[in-house]
Amino acid sequence: MTLYDGFINQIFGLLPQNGKTFQYEKSPLKEGDKNSVLLLRDTAYELGGSQKPCVSTTIVSSSFEFDNSVRLFGKDLSEIHEDCPFAKIVLLQIEDIDEEEAFDKIKELEKIRYIFCPEGFMTRASALSLREQIRVGKKAIRDGVSFKDYGNALIERYSQHPLVKSVSIIFLTEFSRFDSLLLICDKIKNTTSALNHILDNLLFDCASCNLKSICDEVEGMKELHMKKR
Ligand code: SF4
Repeated sequence: MTLYDGFINQIFGLLPQNGKTFQYEKSPLKEGDKNSVLLLRDTAYELGGSQKPCVSTTIVSSSFEFDNSVRLFGKDLSEIHEDCPFAKIVLLQIEDIDEEEAFDKIKELEKIRYIFCPEGFMTRASALSLREQIRVGKKAIRDGVSFKDYGNALIERYSQHPLVKSVSIIFLTEFSRFDSLLLICDKIKNTTSALNHILDNLLFDCASCNLKSICDEVEGMKELHMKKR
């Protein structure tokens, strides 16, 4: 699975130089109940809240090897005092999978963001808008929880999936290029839609297909549809 590799390189090219990197350590955070609600009165602030720039994506590759690290660009949780811009990028090295099962497996991995949230946080994610806002509880701040802890909890959760070989989690809370990142994340979503279109064996007519721009950009898409035909 190398369809998304070009986008991973584009994201790496966008990231600033001044980030912090934390190598994986066991997270002190416990998995919360996925239905638990963090009320506003118990919330310190919301990452991506108040209509601040916000985007989240999960990208898979079988050719990249990640270092199970958490990278942070911008302020850490204890340094934030109000709703702020937020981006979360999950990079997953996976076993090489057959194209036939790729769409379902990618969806399975993407779903983890809707079902996993550590205690003291509440995630509000939308597949359509690509936003993922995270309420951060006052207690989590009092307990000194950091992005390193949150990211390590994510690494542990993704690593439980049998396909996942290595992980990298990237958080951004200060970033001047959210618009460019949003554009790449949108293309990633469209690539997955094109994959679904191809695997469903829908009409092979590039001239009238609304996914043409993505198939023009992503190496291997047209060949895949041709082969499927
Ligand atoms: S290969 Fe052509 S028909 Fe198939 S999804 Fe891409 S643009 Fe559409």
